[in-house]
Amino acid sequence: MTYCNLVAGEWVQGATAGLNRNPSDPNDVIGEYAQASVDQLDAAIAAARAAFPAWSTGGIQARSDALDRIGTEILARREELGALLAREEGKTRPEAIGEVTRAGHIFRFFAGECLRLSGELLPSVRPGVGVEITREPVGVVALITPWNFPIAIPAWKIAPALAWGNCVVLKPADLTPASAWALAEIIHRCGLPAGVFNLVMGRGSVIGDAFVTHPGIDAVSFTGSTDVGHRIAVQCAERGKKVQLEMGGKNPQVVLDDADLPQAVELCVQSAFFSTGQRCTAASRLIVTEGIHDRFVEAMAQRMAGLRVGDALHADTHIGPAASEAQLRQDLDYVEGARTEGAVLVAGGGAADCHTNSGKRGFFVAPTLLTETTPSMRINREEVFGPVASVIRVRDYEQALAVANDTPFGLSSGIATTSLRHARHFQRHSQAGMVMVNLPTAGVDYHVPFGGRKGSSYGPREQGRYAQEFFTSVKTAYVQG
Ligand code: NAD
Repeated sequence: MTYCNLVAGEWVQGATAGLNRNPSDPNDVIGEYAQASVDQLDAAIAAARAAFPAWSTGGIQARSDALDRIGTEILARREELGALLAREEGKTRPEAIGEVTRAGHIFRFFAGECLRLSGELLPSVRPGVGVEITREPVGVVALITPWNFPIAIPAWKIAPALAWGNCVVLKPADLTPASAWALAEIIHRCGLPAGVFNLVMGRGSVIGDAFVTHPGIDAVSFTGSTDVGHRIAVQCAERGKKVQLEMGGKNPQVVLDDADLPQAVELCVQSAFFSTGQRCTAASRLIVTEGIHDRFVEAMAQRMAGLRVGDALHADTHIGPAASEAQLRQDLDYVEGARTEGAVLVAGGGAADCHTNSGKRGFFVAPTLLTETTPSMRINREEVFGPVASVIRVRDYEQALAVANDTPFGLSSGIATTSLRHARHFQRHSQAGMVMVNLPTAGVDYHVPFGGRKGSSYGPREQGRYAQEFFTSVKTAYVQG
């Protein structure tokens, strides 16, 4: 069986199909998934356009009910969907169930949020005239998502889009279509009119340009790599389309002399290595003041020795595989490059030695800690996207802050300290969209804004009610009664 695309309420075969493999065991094929042609993409966009007039002006109770049904089913099936997600992406089963749960909560949150869309009523400077400021749907939105959160990221784009009356065409990552397909199947059965939601699986290199530049697309919400994001920004700007980009990170975690050491170690291990370091909010630069540096490194090495790398579905696994062989190679290349530049390897540094039942090696990377690194090394400038962290030794808080901000990215940042003064100063002066005090840089709530600064993000924030900025368009009406 091939898992099909969803176009105009019908499941349709793609032009071709691709195999989805388990990164813990590449001999395990999860399924064959359709890959769309540009013609099929055109049909999906046409269906969304046809559905838009009725959907965008229809009752909000129907929208709220549909979103509630989707969220409720996701939550009821979290174990099963979590196992599928762990099998296709490689995060551990508990991490995957957590991601699925988040997706369910997001739909339920927006089931309520669509009932709360408000505007403003102001007097005009002209006597007898009223001014009404309202929000309307943007239109047909293109949603393009990466492989590392294959159900949560589609959920946090689809739910607000539908809640506020837009029609959707989703293109998930080619590497992880199964979770997106399972979500689409739930959405298909929740009672939306045909064409309101469409799923088009396929390669970005084949259908990406046609998708973004299509005249039937009003707005593009993208999460993924910086290079693709920049290309999409240019394409949208040239055509006057609304665009929202969430891209890479090189997130700093500062550890000060006065930090609670066990807590600091725990949150660094969490931030840097869990979910195999494949989170845009992962901490990859551990910026440590000199008074605690040596004790911190020793405690990290000890803690890391207890981390078990293995099959994402095994109960005793702490860290699953890289999502693909290409990602595994990229991780190891960065480690090798750092060592050539003078970094010292304290832990990990290679492929982890884990064999699967079928005898084929999964894409396992040993959690890796590098010390004696400097801010200018490549390992501290570019996103690795694997379980690899480098320690940068600094003199004091002021230098730590300067190093933390010395990056083209600005998604999340963290500080471990017992000093209220330093915590508050860091919160204000860290050049990141999200700041964590005595908490991991990764792990965020679903009802508040998510996004970064500098090279990490472009356009309005995602999630919570701030998502209105992107998924609605403001209208100012002047009314003489
Ligand atoms: P990617 O850029 O390779 O792919 C992302 C999506 O874009 C995929 O669906 C892909 O098929 C599509 N795509 C590729 N080329 C395209 C084109 N020319 N036009 C249109 N679409 C195209 O990213 P990835 O490897 O899937 O994901 C990893 C990246 O995502 C990392 O850099 C990570 O930091 C980033 N990420 C960021 C956030 C965030 O919120 N900031 C969250 C998760 C992941």
